[in-house]
Amino acid sequence: RIAYVNGQYVRHSEAAVHIEDRGFQFADGVYEVCEVREGLIVDLTRHLNRLDRSLSELRMTQPMSRAALTLVIREVLRRNRVRNGIFYMQVTRGAAKRDHFFPPEGTAPTITITAKSTDPSLLAKKYATGIKVITLLENRWDRVDIKTVGLLPNVLAKQQARDAGAHDAIFVTRDGMVLEGASANAWIVTPDGKLVTRPAEHGILKGITRTTAIDVAAKLGLVFVEREFSVDEMHGAREAFMTSATGICVPVVEVDGKPVANGHPGTVSGNIRDTFFAIAEKTAI
Ligand code: PMP
Repeated sequence: RIAYVNGQYVRHSEAAVHIEDRGFQFADGVYEVCEVREGLIVDLTRHLNRLDRSLSELRMTQPMSRAALTLVIREVLRRNRVRNGIFYMQVTRGAAKRDHFFPPEGTAPTITITAKSTDPSLLAKKYATGIKVITLLENRWDRVDIKTVGLLPNVLAKQQARDAGAHDAIFVTRDGMVLEGASANAWIVTPDGKLVTRPAEHGILKGITRTTAIDVAAKLGLVFVEREFSVDEMHGAREAFMTSATGICVPVVEVDGKPVANGHPGTVSGNIRDTFFAIAEKTAI
């Protein structure tokens, strides 16, 4: 495997950044994960737009132009021979003597890009059986709309889910409203057939897959409502599912040990998944 690190293509096993990197010292960095399917990058423009937004919200400089970045991404995918998989891209505020204040003017941001092929049969199994989730009280900071590498609450939540025999955790508010998964956005289909997901202005990451799934819903003629929903509503839903670039649209069949509907994946999530790739923006490698 080959990784891109600050202007160079290096062996993945030897790829490294400095121990004083602010990503390592302070989680002072942002990232993107993007799906690649059949040799095409899915929703690249939206992912790069969100990266720009994350950087500007943290007052970080762009590591390179969008054209250059796109070239490097494609080169990393080519060198790793990825046709179906993902690439991961991380930008930090650079390496500098450890000090909370921003580093001196002119400190170069650190940029790393990795790519890997994924096994489609693993996802197929999740689609066929659905996943179990647990709910946890939100304990993250106020700016989860920024895609930062500061993911400790998400890490602990995921592990807590695994320890409980579930696949994922969903953060909820004190009054029982669903926010989002530890690495995916949450959706339900109401008993009367409406597709619902929470507004993304505040309190969650505005998922790229979420945005494109809304486009897909329109294409399929589904009734879509962007509003908050509760854990109780999730229990009583006709369907529940999670969206992310790595999973696209994964059915949720159990919440806190209680089945959603009949405990089997629903048809709406399947329909969205089946139409997703056709609707999404596709960029050749
Ligand atoms: N919420 C969180 C907390 C995430 O980490 C992710 C995945 N990066 C998402 C939502 C889904 O976002 P996307 O569809 O852009 O992958």
